[in-house]
Amino acid sequence: MKSKPIRMCIACRKRERQQELIRLQKDQGNLIRYSGKGRSFYLCTKCIEGQHITKIVAGREKIDIKSVEELIKELVSVKN
Ligand SMILES: [Zn+2]
Repeated sequence: MKSKPIRMCIACRKRERQQELIRLQKDQGNLIRYSGKGRSFYLCTKCIEGQHITKIVAGREKIDIKSVEELIKELVSVKN
């Protein structure tokens, strides 16, 4: 049986199957969805709805807070 890749949410550090997580990356100081190349990180679907998620991501990854707010908002609205 092939094992499914496990990744960690950078906010809550919970480990999940990769397909359950949202893959993001930093691109020139902004937050974007993973483009297919480069360094990436993951957030779980629970954390994107958390109150402090924007600050956590912006602070940890040194990303412009406006771009984090915008993308998180978009991700939450797609989910609901
Ligand atoms: Zn999480």
